[in-house]
Amino acid sequence: MCKVIIAGNQKGGVAKTTTVANLGIGLARHGKRVLLIDGDAQGSLTASLGYPRPDEIDCTLATVLGKVINEEEIAPFEGILRHPEGVNLLPGNIELSGVENSLVNIMSREFIMREYVESMRSYFDYILIDCPPSLGMVTINALVAADSILIPVQANYLSAKGLEQLIRTIRKIKKQLNPSLSIEGILMTMVNHRTVFAREIIQMLKEGYGNAIGFFETAIPESVKAAECAALGVSIFKHDPKGKVAAAYESLTKEVLSHE
Ligand code: ADP
Ligand code: MG
Repeated sequence: MCKVIIAGNQKGGVAKTTTVANLGIGLARHGKRVLLIDGDAQGSLTASLGYPRPDEIDCTLATVLGKVINEEEIAPFEGILRHPEGVNLLPGNIELSGVENSLVNIMSREFIMREYVESMRSYFDYILIDCPPSLGMVTINALVAADSILIPVQANYLSAKGLEQLIRTIRKIKKQLNPSLSIEGILMTMVNHRTVFAREIIQMLKEGYGNAIGFFETAIPESVKAAECAALGVSIFKHDPKGKVAAAYESLTKEVLSHE
């Protein structure tokens, strides 16, 4: 059984990309077969996994989605790169913005990514998709392809407020396009105890959304070590294995595994 989880939040800078990379590698460290898909035209996930110039990569998510749209054959594992820490990566780059535009005019435009993802399910235990900071066609395609959404939220008042629109979009997708979509959980990220406590934000979110939405027990602390990983192309498990962020991503990994 393969589980498809996307990291989504239309707000940028909430650690979607960082979470996909570290949760993905965390799952691989537990022996899972993992595919990470970079769904952001900025290619940040691709860059943070050791490909600093994503726009120079020939075969990406945009390429395979183009093939789905044109009903062309996709070779097995086409475009998929292998990361030394045990995950597979389908990179993303600027060409995705062209796909975003072309999707607008085609039939079943919300189901293009799903068709690709379905074809990969049998090879993997987890497929994690990194979404762009918008609720555009790529994010909608990812929501339709997914079993669940993990929502990273920065532990401050304003980013918590911004969740309303995302939750509304999720409800709509669930109703109209993907009834089996669930919320894997809200993940507090970059928690900094000098400002507001994550607990207070969680309290506020619970008051707003009731208990319908689960929160991860784990919160990811803020640390420069986490920010350094991207430039090195490695996970926090490699860069700072004994640090608090590695411990937090390991704990998040175990929570996700416990949802199986
Ligand atoms: P998003 O994908 O939501 O835009 P990113 O994962 O790119 O967010 O993270 C935004 C920035 O914050 C990046 O520079 C990243 O390195 C940094 N960052 C991510 N997680 C942490 C953390 N736990 N502590 C400090 N900085 C972090
Ligand atoms: Mg990102």
